[in-house]
Amino acid sequence: ESKRNGKNTWTAFVQEMDDEYRHRQSLMEDLREAIATDALSLVYQPIIDPDRMHVDCCEALSRWTHPEHGSISPVVFIELAEEMGIIGDLTRSVLHTACRDCMTWIGDVSVSVNLSAIDLRDEGILATIRSALDASGLPARRLRVEVTESAFVRDPSKAHGILREIMEMGASVSIDDFGTGYSSLSYLNTLPFDTVKIDRSFVDDVPADERQLKLLKGIFRLSRDLGFDVVIEGVETEEQLQALRSAECVDQIQGYVFGLPLPSASVSELVATTEFRSIPALRNVS
Ligand code: C2E
Ligand code: MG
Ligand code: MG
Ligand code: MG
Repeated sequence: ESKRNGKNTWTAFVQEMDDEYRHRQSLMEDLREAIATDALSLVYQPIIDPDRMHVDCCEALSRWTHPEHGSISPVVFIELAEEMGIIGDLTRSVLHTACRDCMTWIGDVSVSVNLSAIDLRDEGILATIRSALDASGLPARRLRVEVTESAFVRDPSKAHGILREIMEMGASVSIDDFGTGYSSLSYLNTLPFDTVKIDRSFVDDVPADERQLKLLKGIFRLSRDLGFDVVIEGVETEEQLQALRSAECVDQIQGYVFGLPLPSASVSELVATTEFRSIPALRNVS
């Protein structure tokens, strides 16, 4: 009896694995098609300097609405694209669109593009960046690229060299999700970048968790003292923002408190609202 149950469970398990596998395979085919036909889209999330009430930058975030499965998280499809070896095509398309979109915005807002660790294994990324800048006419100083620490695991010296050249072009380099993964504080002294984006896991339980705030404050202070710009990611509430202000941890802020990712066409309105009328979120704080 129990043996038969075991066998049924096993059969069900194998069936499930098989379904899972087929689902992944079909998603991969659909993603290939979506990238080839430019069916992915971009939304932009503001990165704000609350002291100056200024939209410093907008981060380009990829979106994919699958015809049957609806919206699929970039965490899922970026990893698929990496596995399939087509992440370079996605990155190229994002860079071109983001630079073009940024040129349409009012003010001096920069645009930020996420690079995959795989993009940093090939110097070809440098030509891709130059061509996105040339084609759009965007000055390099208005482009930021974001990379995570995982980019330095495989071939650190190659990744360093590529980032150094990106900075030499005049673009900015951010370390994304800082403090998670393989992070080591010594990175702050060795990597070629100018901006630290502190991962949102350091803000989650602020202000309730005092120890978390101390940790955040330590990373913030250290990064500032070393001369980096600092973005704190994932700030969702007024209360969190107020706690960051009290702790003197405010340089640039990205998070739902200042807005969800928006379509490119809405960025100029946001800039106008923020800079000329001040956004409601800003009026309520100290
Ligand atoms: P990321 O680069 O760290 O981007 C920030 C993520 O946090 C975005 O999720 C954003 O919507 C979300 N977020 C922003 N503010 C808040 C907040 O206040 N609270 C919370 N809970 N979340 C917030 P999204 O768009 O789902 O992207 C997830 C990740 O997918 C990105 O993390 C990035 O690693 C990757 N990704 C997205 N687009 C691209 C792309 O075009 N290329 C590459 N290589 N990766 C991308
Ligand atoms: Mg990012
Ligand atoms: Mg991040
Ligand atoms: Mg400032």
